[in-house]
Amino acid sequence: MEDFEEKPCYFNGKFVPLREANINIRTHALQYATAAFGGMRAYYNEEKKNLFIFRVDDHYERLVNSGKILQMRMPLSLSEFRQVLVSMLREGNWRQNVYIRPFLYKKSLDLSPRFHNVEDGLAIYAIPLDDYLDTQRGLRACVSSWVRIHDTQIPSRAKVTGAYTNSALAKSEALQNGFDEAIFLDIHGNVCEGSAENIFFVQKGELHTPPISSSILEGITRKTVITLAHELGIAVHERPISRTELYTSEEIFFSGTGVQVAWLREIDHRIIGNGKIGPVTQKIQEAYFRVVTGKEDRHQNWLTRVY
Ligand code: PMP
Repeated sequence: MEDFEEKPCYFNGKFVPLREANINIRTHALQYATAAFGGMRAYYNEEKKNLFIFRVDDHYERLVNSGKILQMRMPLSLSEFRQVLVSMLREGNWRQNVYIRPFLYKKSLDLSPRFHNVEDGLAIYAIPLDDYLDTQRGLRACVSSWVRIHDTQIPSRAKVTGAYTNSALAKSEALQNGFDEAIFLDIHGNVCEGSAENIFFVQKGELHTPPISSSILEGITRKTVITLAHELGIAVHERPISRTELYTSEEIFFSGTGVQVAWLREIDHRIIGNGKIGPVTQKIQEAYFRVVTGKEDRHQNWLTRVY
């Protein structure tokens, strides 16, 4: 495969090879995690010979809002942002599934953690990415001993770099204890989310998922799953979810740009349902992959074409 380090990324307002997009070790964002990021995907459709970027508008809006919360300004309008993404991927001649990482960061070399009066930067790069976690095998997860940070500690509504210390602690604990992923409880002991994904439960054939008030990130895949579920005639309830519902639900799956729609086989050594992918999860997963890869006529407005 061609080395993606030679492909263009967006850095300091222009395109440069990823290999050359480097920062000073004194950069504020590196020292204090004063940054916010997005995580997007583009799927390559071999039949249509096109690459589709998923839900650019929603990812843009979330990044702008993250910036608003952290006092960082997004320098590009939505149409400029879309144009940068398309040009970057087209110039890089990407013809495979891609993960795109745009981020706003405090780029100056100031000492002292703060958000105001520190210069902002925007950078965007792309890397190849197929599955982040296995979507077919059934994942094994544990409830983390780390509690999810509350919205009053690090804003959940923003995808803040600093919040991922919390995620990394939980993820390492899970992996080092032999699991695939961690599930956070919030400070009230309710189910929150995975280290980098939202979570859905199936009970009596209907979907349940923690509400925004449970300090979750408002996932764009979560929003997509809710829309697809409604179209499939599956009811969705956003409500506080207790820990023990993790053990008694018929089906459980994660949603996220990275994880896509991935089902869980086991949580804390309890088998979920019959230990196989359930019918509701299967329907949602199929619908999701058809939509993101441009195989579905519906929701073409969610896709930005690169070629
Ligand atoms: N929660 C967290 C903590 C995440 O990092 C992610 C991944 N961005 C998600 C949920 C899922 O969000 P999305 O569907 O927008 O990728």
